[in-house]
Amino acid sequence: MQKSLKDLINEDGFRHWYEGELIRAFGLMALGVLLLILGVSALEVFFNLGPGWPLDRLAALASSLIGVFLAGLCWLKFSSLIARAELLANQAVCSNCQAYGRLLVDDERLDTESLERVLNCTCQKCQHRFVMSCA
Ligand SMILES: [Zn+2]
Repeated sequence: MQKSLKDLINEDGFRHWYEGELIRAFGLMALGVLLLILGVSALEVFFNLGPGWPLDRLAALASSLIGVFLAGLCWLKFSSLIARAELLANQAVCSNCQAYGRLLVDDERLDTESLERVLNCTCQKCQHRFVMSCA
């Protein structure tokens, strides 16, 4: 079962969660770049094989398409991870004491009108309550 955003942030703290999201996102981006290189290389093999190699050309074309497709998926996941992490990081400042990332998520809910995930938070430094939201 997948953990909620509240549990993930509260387990090790916001800063640790944010660092993990960045590492995960940029790891996916690196994987995507490698897959794109694989796809382009397979495409080059496809064009360089002569007409006497139909199965090899088909395998090269399939490898190229799969590599580019998976690179696209990595890029989409990277974009969604980095967008959510940055959106929450920009809101993780207590408006009362300006403490960054020192928060506990009290409650997590889905706003039915905006379809955003709303996090009710408490500052660990001054106990001020504030709200963060993300898609
Ligand atoms: Zn505070």
